[in-house]
Amino acid sequence: MSSNQCTRLLMGNWKMNGSLASNQTLLKGILEGLDQQPTDHQLVVFAPYVFLAQLQSLLAGSAIQWGAQDLSAHEQGAYTGEVSATMLGEFGCQWVLVGHSERRQHFAEGDALTAAKVVRAVRHGLRPVLCVGETQAEHDAQQTEQVLARQLQPVLALGAEQLQGLVIAYEPVWAIGSGRSASPEYAGQVHEFIDTQLQQAGCEDVPVVYGGSVNGDNAGQLFAQPRVDGALVGGASLVADEFLRIVAA
Ligand code: PEP
Repeated sequence: MSSNQCTRLLMGNWKMNGSLASNQTLLKGILEGLDQQPTDHQLVVFAPYVFLAQLQSLLAGSAIQWGAQDLSAHEQGAYTGEVSATMLGEFGCQWVLVGHSERRQHFAEGDALTAAKVVRAVRHGLRPVLCVGETQAEHDAQQTEQVLARQLQPVLALGAEQLQGLVIAYEPVWAIGSGRSASPEYAGQVHEFIDTQLQQAGCEDVPVVYGGSVNGDNAGQLFAQPRVDGALVGGASLVADEFLRIVAA
């Protein structure tokens, strides 16, 4: 993926937010904004499972694609509470988040499970967005590259053939929801490091997006960095005008 590409991936992670009514208002606002301000960028929203049918009905045929925030590593069967890749496909998902830091932190998801989820997603034609990033303590201890290499390794070891459609989201944990984005220079350096890891694994054309307190004010500077191929946006994706400002950045 070229650093100067003009088509970016702009993705909204709604986390555990929304309601049938508020989703409708939000998506109406974004779609109306896109009518006035068409874009070549690829837009994606990641919603809680229970809203996927609503997204399918409101977004089919629009410029916005949708996905889930997680999936089961298993194919089907006795896994109460889990949702399979096949089920996501039935609701029109083309995308799925894997290994978001909140899954790693609150649900003890490790690198091996994350790799298994990537495999399952790719096998079912879903594009996995693998989230990686260091915590504040790891950042302070200057362990960022070590942590990223560890998180990437089990996935990249699968080989390019098994990783069709993969996207990497670099999300420093200390920047998520904190209002304190990584500086553009820091994000650029880390994206270059991830790019090197991808190249060493023979994985070409894997976009690397940045996530962590992206908003309409800082998006432009982040996107100006080499190898920042888009953004994964949490809080600001819940406000139509703010998300549209990121799209315009
Ligand atoms: C996220 O949830 O992936 C995220 C980046 O959140 P925020 O933009 O709110 O920091």
